[in-house]
Amino acid sequence: MSETPAPERTAEDARARMNVESFNLDHRAVRAPYIRIADRKVLPAGDVLTKFDIRFTQPNVAHLDSDAVHSLEHLMAEHMREHTSDVIDVSPMGCRTGFYALLSGEHTAADFAPVLEATLQDLLAATEVPAANEVQCGWGAHHTLEGAQAAARAFLDRREEWEDVFPA
Ligand SMILES: [Zn+2]
Repeated sequence: MSETPAPERTAEDARARMNVESFNLDHRAVRAPYIRIADRKVLPAGDVLTKFDIRFTQPNVAHLDSDAVHSLEHLMAEHMREHTSDVIDVSPMGCRTGFYALLSGEHTAADFAPVLEATLQDLLAATEVPAANEVQCGWGAHHTLEGAQAAARAFLDRREEWEDVFPA
């Protein structure tokens, strides 16, 4: 009796086995800035959740400063809720290249883009970072309105590229 040799394990296989959607994404293949659906979940009662990957900087090439990420988080979390009632959560990625936005309901990148655009326009007009104090935040001093606005401006400047995630 002969044994069939186990197929060689490639990095491709390793990625395909991960539980987290973004661990299965080849971060070398994407082109920031972009927005992309990272997950879509149907709950037991039939309600749908949509999670977006909002990528500000090119993975493994550039990242945002920590205080700018923090202020973008506060500003987007607050202002996005003025443009849609579907926001559940807006959170930064640990790699500091972007954010996740979790929304209730069915959404496409095309219908979420105007919401994000309006949110970032608000952010550019803001005169302060909301809740940047020791009562409402875990690190109230760790903020930069200017840094958040510079990152938002750079992202908005490339608005026409947002839905082009994987370059041809
Ligand atoms: Zn905070």
